[in-house]
Parts: sequence; C-alpha cells; structure tokens
Amino acid sequence: MSSVIFLVDMNAFFISCEMTRNRHLRGLPAAVAGDPDRRLGIILAANYEARALGVRTAMTVHEALRKCPKIKLVPPDHDFYLEKSEEVMDLLYGFSSIIEPNSIDEAWLDMTGSLQLFGPPLIAARRIMQEIEQQLGLWCSIGISENKFLAKMASSMKKPKGISTLWIDEIQEKMWPLPVDALYGVGRKTAEKLTAYGIRTIGDLAAVDESLLAGWFGKTGRLLSRHARGVDPEPVLPQQSDAAKSIGRSITLPQNLSQFAEAEPILLSLADAVGRTARKNNRIGRTVHVVIKFSDFTIITRQMNILPSNSTRHIYQAGCQLLQRGWPAGQKIRLLGITLSGFETDGGDRQISLFDKIDASASDKRQVAVDQAMDQIRDRFGEKSIKRARQINPGENAD
Ligand SMILES: [Mg+2]
Repeated sequence: MSSVIFLVDMNAFFISCEMTRNRHLRGLPAAVAGDPDRRLGIILAANYEARALGVRTAMTVHEALRKCPKIKLVPPDHDFYLEKSEEVMDLLYGFSSIIEPNSIDEAWLDMTGSLQLFGPPLIAARRIMQEIEQQLGLWCSIGISENKFLAKMASSMKKPKGISTLWIDEIQEKMWPLPVDALYGVGRKTAEKLTAYGIRTIGDLAAVDESLLAGWFGKTGRLLSRHARGVDPEPVLPQQSDAAKSIGRSITLPQNLSQFAEAEPILLSLADAVGRTARKNNRIGRTVHVVIKFSDFTIITRQMNILPSNSTRHIYQAGCQLLQRGWPAGQKIRLLGITLSGFETDGGDRQISLFDKIDASASDKRQVAVDQAMDQIRDRFGEKSIKRARQINPGENAD
C-alpha cells in the first residue's frame, strides 16, 4: 500500500492564538504586530477580517493602519504561541505517532498506518480539523498526498479551513497549470531565472530534462525537477522540535534598562520561568545562554557551561555573569533573554538523581528543595501566587 501523508498547517496562527484568549478580537480585524505602540513594527500575522481589508503579513504597521484604521494590534507573545503549538502537536499525536514538525504552525503526519482506525483520508482529515477547532479554538488547512512535498503543496491550495488532496495522479490537472513560483521552495530569484528560460508553469518545469536543470541550478535544479514531477522520497521523520533542545524565555522591556540592578529582578524571573519548565519536563542542562538587544537594535549573545542543573539559582547566577560580561557601560538594553540547553539525553528520574549528581553542597540541596516547594505551590495556586524575594518590587505589597 502506498503512503498517505498529511500536512497540517495552522491558519493565521499567531493572531488565532490571541483570539482564543481575547474575545474582544473575535469578528474584528486584528493582527499580531511587532512594536504596535511605536508604529515602527511590521504585521506578523493578520486575521481573515483584516486580510479582507488588504492587511498582509510583513506590511508595516503604518501601512496596515492606513488600510484599516480600526485594526486591533497585539504585540507578539512567542511563549504563548509555542505553548499553543505544543497543544496542537499533542492533539496530532492522537492521530499518528509519526509526526515531523516543519515549523511552529505546521507538521507532517504519516497517516499510512492510522487510516484503519480513522477511516479514509478525507474523513480522517475532517476529524483532525474538527478536533483542533473544538478543543483548541484554532483553524487549520490540511494537504493530503503520497509524499511530503505534495502534501505541503496541497495544504496551500485551500485556505482557511481547506482540505485538499494532491495525489500523484492529480498533479497534471491540479499542479502543472500553476505558475512556477507557486512551487514550494522556489523563491523570487529562481522564478525570475526560470521565466527567463521560458519556464512559466510548474508543468513547463516538469517537462524540462532533469540534467538540463542540474546544469543551470546544480543540486537545486535536480530537486526542482523532481518536485515538479511530484517525486519526493523523503520519509516523515519524527523529530525533536527545537523547543525540546532548549528552553528559553525573553522579554522586550517596556522601558530601556541602564542599570544592572534594574536588570537583576527581570533576569531572575526569566531564569525562574526557564528553570520551572526544565523541572516540569525533567530536563537538566549544562549550557546557559543570554541574549541582549540594545536600544540601537544591536544584539549580542553570551554563553557558558555550568554543572548540569535546572535550578533557578544556578541559571540565574550564570545569567548574571553573562550579562555583566556582555553589557558595555553606557549601553541601554531593550530586550533580555535567557536559555538553558545542552540537555542530558535521557530524561528519566532526574529529580532524584539531581541530589546525587551535582556533588551537592548543603546549600545546593536546599536550593533544589526551594525550587520544588515553589513549583508545587504555583501548580496549586497559580503562577502569581509566589515570588522570590528579589522579584518583589519595593513598592509592591508582598502578600
Ligand atoms: Mg505554515
């Protein structure tokens, strides 16, 4: 039996995530935009109401406001989108165990072995779409074919909420008439070159000899030729997403920072969020990485190794050293981020072994106990129920 591959692509993902937690955005033109206050940023994702009025991804905020003065703009919250993305992936694992994320908002599923359980491809796809909508309040499009490439092509044929097949025996009718720049992977420059050679449609490309294309474009030429003919032998590779290789948090600050003392509580709360996620997932990392964006938009990163840990204090202490090292006098900081990576490969039973692993001083053991106690309280009473002493603003009531 030949393979059945799905590409599930979330529609207008960032703004759709925002709409799940903010009812006021529903039914109105809205978009996620970098720096909406300063009118400098660009549109990162517009909902369909805004698109109907001409707002597009990568348009400047200024231009979007001209097209649609009433558009609601929301600043990006990547941690939230990552969380939502993980919820989508979790749901998809209910349909297949062979899943390869292609980006934060899309993934391939090898459905070959799942169809016995979920019915023919179109029925199974409809069920996935319904569950994503009902359980997560999000929309997707699904492309279906025998291979990854054609599934990806199919997913873009009907949006939003479209289910499209592009089986190999359908490519002549559905794919070959499309302009050559509609082929996934063909950028503007390649398209211009192809047009110069008289190749206008994907069908034209499929008709050209593969070796001729290899002469013009090298390896890429061979790939283009195969894709145009619907050939893609790449299997769906279950992958650890990047999110699983590192755990990071960053914040764009409401006001630029000029003093180390102002940065400390922010770094501590970021380190705490990172440590807490690592502890929840039983991950112990050996590399701490700090990213600093200055007010002139230059970015620097600094990293160092630590004894394997997921303790807030260890991550924070390394972060402080890196921040001091990377922050030249007089510069102002507008974004600060910290990441833990270099995880030990096996994740099991780490909480227990952490005590033995780090040749733990009494204070390290105490730190592990403090982290665990704080995590438990926040699990029960919510994130804001407890703060470390340094995170409490002097003017804020600590109760
Ligand atoms: Mg996508």
